[in-house]
Amino acid sequence: MMKIGFIGLGAMGRPMAFNLLAAGFEVFAFDLSEAAVKETEAKGARGCATAGELASKAEAIICSLPNAKIVESVMTGKGGVFENCHEGTIIIDMSSVSPNSTRAMAKKAAQYGVRYLDAPVSGGVSGAAAGTLTIMAGADDETFALVKPIFDVLGKKIYHIGEVGGGDAIKMVNNLLLGCNMAALAEALTLGVRCGLSVETMKEVISVSSGRSYALDAKLEKFIMADQFTGGFAVDLQYKDLGLALEASRDEKVPLPMTAAAMQIYEAARARGQGREDMSSVVKVWEDLTGAKVRGTGQ
Ligand code: NAD
Repeated sequence: MMKIGFIGLGAMGRPMAFNLLAAGFEVFAFDLSEAAVKETEAKGARGCATAGELASKAEAIICSLPNAKIVESVMTGKGGVFENCHEGTIIIDMSSVSPNSTRAMAKKAAQYGVRYLDAPVSGGVSGAAAGTLTIMAGADDETFALVKPIFDVLGKKIYHIGEVGGGDAIKMVNNLLLGCNMAALAEALTLGVRCGLSVETMKEVISVSSGRSYALDAKLEKFIMADQFTGGFAVDLQYKDLGLALEASRDEKVPLPMTAAAMQIYEAARARGQGREDMSSVVKVWEDLTGAKVRGTGQ
């Protein structure tokens, strides 16, 4: 079994590392948060003081980091991964970043004799904990085959999309839809409340009608109706993902008016200090604008 290094033990990375440990992998763990490293050590991982130390010990290195800039600094920074890993190491970036940034990283990795692939995920924190993530990999056939046993522990639906960058491309398209769907759900619910409907009625009827979406299934009851927005998928991360789509839209000359509008809703939530809250907290922006209460009967 490969020795795995895990960098980025956040909402997603921590349960993923736990699952690898439970499956019997030796795991080296690093995060800027000492508490996250300690928690992973408690499950059997060997904590590392730096990304470089981790890279010198691991055969495959998984990252689950907030954005491409951080991935780049962890990889190319002084004392970072590239400087310290061995020839033949496989780096699996499971963060949501742009296809272009991944291709640039893969090119640099090749100079160190290192394989680099993108394998972003979908399925949220609950999917990470249950080991049922959807994994979308961009890699050559040989590299994909080498890391497939790792993916089998972390995910349920595992797709080899194509060459490096392919996984990031489809993840970007998917999250464009999630971001737009959630923003649309927030404004639709607000309109419904102002028209005299209860949130409970809208949930029940729309769940079996054509307006249904993953945003409705995963976010309405668990976050909005429960009136709690901790954990889950942060507004800041959804905002980043819409930005990736808009960046690609400029390169590819594809207008994305829905995406641009949705991004402003998340910007409004960020302006209200909700960046770390679950993305469904955009509903509060509409509540503030209209005075409607969208969080269940009697609230
Ligand atoms: P998070 O913010 O909870 O975790 C990120 C972790 O990275 C934190 O523990 C942070 O301390 C660590 N970190 C930041 N900079 C670092 C550095 N320089 N060195 C080492 N560690 C560093 O984010 P998350 O929700 O776990 O998401 C991780 C990635 O997965 C993101 O790219 C996100 O877009 C993607 N993603 C998240 C979800 C979700 O539902 N949360 C779903 C699918 C994909």
